[in-house]
Amino acid sequence: MADLLVDIWDRVLRHVQKNHSEHWRNWFEQIEPASLDNGTLRIEVADNSWRQYLKQYCTEAFTQAAQQVTGHLISIEYVSSEQDDENQPQGKDYRDSSDQTDLLCFSPDYTFDNFVVGPCNRLSHAACLAVSEAPGKVYNPLFIHGSVGLGKTHLLQAACQAFLKNAASPPQVLYMSCETFTNDFIHAVEQGDLYNFRYKYRYVDILVIDDVQFLSERERSQEEFFHTFNTLYQNRKQIILSADCSPTEIPKLEDRLVSRFNQGLVTRIDKPTFETRMAIVKKKAGMRSIKPPEEVVKFIARKIDSNTRELEGALTKIHGLAMLDDSPITLELARQALGEEPTPAHRQVTISQIIDAVTEHFNVRLSDLQGKKRSRSIAHPRQVCMYLARELTQHSLEEIGGHFGGRDHTTVLHAFRHIDKLCDTDENVRGTVNSLTAGLTQR
Ligand code: ADP
Ligand code: MG
Repeated sequence: MADLLVDIWDRVLRHVQKNHSEHWRNWFEQIEPASLDNGTLRIEVADNSWRQYLKQYCTEAFTQAAQQVTGHLISIEYVSSEQDDENQPQGKDYRDSSDQTDLLCFSPDYTFDNFVVGPCNRLSHAACLAVSEAPGKVYNPLFIHGSVGLGKTHLLQAACQAFLKNAASPPQVLYMSCETFTNDFIHAVEQGDLYNFRYKYRYVDILVIDDVQFLSERERSQEEFFHTFNTLYQNRKQIILSADCSPTEIPKLEDRLVSRFNQGLVTRIDKPTFETRMAIVKKKAGMRSIKPPEEVVKFIARKIDSNTRELEGALTKIHGLAMLDDSPITLELARQALGEEPTPAHRQVTISQIIDAVTEHFNVRLSDLQGKKRSRSIAHPRQVCMYLARELTQHSLEEIGGHFGGRDHTTVLHAFRHIDKLCDTDENVRGTVNSLTAGLTQR
């Protein structure tokens, strides 16, 4: 029976990996099946955040998979060797109460291990790490800001989870979005239950509030938050906040809150560089047990250069398409998944169309591109032409060189490599190349 269970479980896992790739995580391999009887497959999961994730995203996938593999109606149950953990504080006692169902849970994806550190987020990461090791002692409050999708929530949750792991005795961590705080406050006012509200927020070891820009223009919530803040601060309890802009830039935020928010450490997360984006794509791929070729990683990192969440979305699309077609992840497939025309259409791009687009964009003449001038204003568009011709047409290096005043293949290759490199390091060049490519391939 044990062998049979292991075999069934293995097939269930493969089924989930193939058919629900967006939810698949590499740690699924560590899950053990506990039993299969009376139409119920029990899955043993020790880690609370894992169990939460499975419950939230995977029950349907596992149920379907189990039914498919066994040919019977099967339901799924998660059992834990650490059942008691459910009752341990991590804001859980609040979370489990009926009026708190909208409290956010920690994602097992959002750990320090899964966070890629780069120049854009080094300080914010270091500060969160320091705070999780010595809450209330180093930076208080810690205020992290940056535009959407750059990893604020990830870092905040990583700090909470690390703190829960590090602490010798179970601490009270209260983590939520500012919207939840505000709604909770309004509800307490309506119910005349401010006593319980205050007890809940003012007696924790760490208070973590995500997206505090939500306080903007909400005067009564600001007032309440101010007093919550002061109580915790005076008791040397750690406060971590995030927002999409710095405290000073939050519109209609009382001065006294701005000054409180500024009195600890304020750090900004910037857009990730090309190298960091590549590292993030690789990290996210690893978490799903996939290993896309380097050129695909590069392609994604180049194409999406602002929002990290979209990088992940791109990877999900590509992986999903590969699973659907049962084919390996290739550059071709990645292009197709991200809505670029597949190669046949690329083949139809002609060198003269490329020349038209480039001469128009850079405001140069064809005779300049074909001539001998080497000034940057001419050489650069010429090299962009050669790059696009190599990327979007099937012509050989020699043929491409022929269109530009009979230049030889090493010149074309040099131009290609030069622009390719610039696309990695220079946002302007990448933007130009991307928009010319889009214009040429999406006609
Ligand atoms: P924000 O709260 O700033 O809007 P999130 O924390 O929700 O952004 O991040 C969006 C997505 O990008 C998440 O899946 C997160 O894991 C991922 N992400 C952002 N920055 C990084 C990073 N440096 N390393 C790994 N993943 C990241
Ligand atoms: Mg967020």
